[in-house]
Amino acid sequence: MSGGLVTAAYIVAAILFICSLAGLSKHETSKQGNIFGMSGMAIALLATIFGPNTGNVAWILLAMVIGGAIGLRLAKKVEMTEMPELVAILHSFVGLAAVLVGFNSYIDHAPGLAPVMENIHLTEVFLGIFIGAVTFTGSLVAFGKLRGKISSSALMLPHRHKMNLAALVVSFLLMLWFVQTDSTGAQVFALLLMTLIALVFGWHLVASIGGADMPVVVSMLNSYSGWAAAAAGFMLSNDLLIVTGALVGSSGAILSYIMCKAMNRSFISVIAGGFGTDVSVGGESDEVGEHREITVEETAEMLKASSSVVITPGYGMAVAQAQYPVAEITEKLRARGIKVRFGIHPVAGRLPGHMNVLLAEAKVPYDVVLEMDEINDDFSDTDTVLVIGANDTVNPAALEDPRSPIAGMPVLEVWKAQNVIVFKRSMSTGYAGVQNPLFFKDNTQMLFGDAKASVEGILRAL
Ligand code: NDP
Repeated sequence: MSGGLVTAAYIVAAILFICSLAGLSKHETSKQGNIFGMSGMAIALLATIFGPNTGNVAWILLAMVIGGAIGLRLAKKVEMTEMPELVAILHSFVGLAAVLVGFNSYIDHAPGLAPVMENIHLTEVFLGIFIGAVTFTGSLVAFGKLRGKISSSALMLPHRHKMNLAALVVSFLLMLWFVQTDSTGAQVFALLLMTLIALVFGWHLVASIGGADMPVVVSMLNSYSGWAAAAAGFMLSNDLLIVTGALVGSSGAILSYIMCKAMNRSFISVIAGGFGTDVSVGGESDEVGEHREITVEETAEMLKASSSVVITPGYGMAVAQAQYPVAEITEKLRARGIKVRFGIHPVAGRLPGHMNVLLAEAKVPYDVVLEMDEINDDFSDTDTVLVIGANDTVNPAALEDPRSPIAGMPVLEVWKAQNVIVFKRSMSTGYAGVQNPLFFKDNTQMLFGDAKASVEGILRAL
């Protein structure tokens, strides 16, 4: 394939990636968005493999078959609730790839570059490895936290912000030294020392962020992985990798910003490893009163007597795979003339848009699925709210307790409704590890058990 054809293919692929992002921003066009993305990637791969700058095609194809087989197996096996972990571990691969490309590019670069170009090349190498290393360990910690292997609470080391700042300053000084020195030994030392610092920095940055801020961390690491890919693109002189990396980097940054706004968090504070969010977490998991319980039959009767119902799903609905009976209940109640709507918190579940995907999968009509801002004012006119496997996203402590780790996060104000039924298996806390005063309010009743079994029981009783 000629160089001109490769460039043309790259332009088509870049346009398809942009169309993909546009498609993915709405429910109705998201399937189309995926198709655009996959087509763009297929064109990009073919153009790169068969382009004039690529040798050893057999090795590349072999690596692709092995990688593709592992990827296919993992993607088929993964549960919807494990998707964030998969995404986090994939981000770590992008980071590791950027580190390896950086070292390779340093060792293997063409001699005889003009001094200015040489400096630019060394800066690219240094920054590529730095961003890649931060993304690598940061994503591994995010994976551990999402999988429950590492505590989801924030690691509060003394002087942690000073340590982060020191890591940045030392890395910057090392970069100046790396670019200016003529000694290969000094360059290798600077590169290795910076890599070590960046690995520890990435680990510490994500470890210091508490559970409730994890959604922002996941989208932030998505952004970092994009910038790491763009840096690799500069080192490999691959225009498409630069464009694609920049698209992922900037869309991840925009998503992080939107999520910070939705959660009333400072963007800077989250990307700086929780800077300025020191809060007390003492005694948060203690119970704060007496709770009342309700049965499946009583819940069915309450629903029949209601004229308006709001369902607020959360992570537990995903775990229980309760979306299908929930969709059936919705249909049944609507057939009885009861107004049923869904209230979706922006960070419900473990992925941005997690609940929307599950409800779309179960064919719940889009027009009854409302965002938190659209539904929050309506709770006071609602007869019954079904909180199905949600916890942190309906926790009044976020608004009432300034010392709470989730203080300031907007939540679904379900307690304003006449009756609230909480579907869960026990009195345990949600992801942020914070006890929920909602469970002890006078108008709240707990329906204990697996959410799917409870909803199916209600369905039968209806
Ligand atoms: P939470 O994680 O706060 O709570 C989920 C609740 O579901 C638990 O209290 C659990 O209680 C219950 N549950 C679990 N399994 C079942 C089951 N089979 N049947 C019934 N109930 C069950 O959920 P939310 O969706 O309200 O909040 C999401 C949290 O996750 C937020 O803190 C958010 O910041 C965080 N997060 C979100 C991400 C995102 O992108 N959306 C990414 C990373 C983190 P019990 O064990 O008693 O049953």
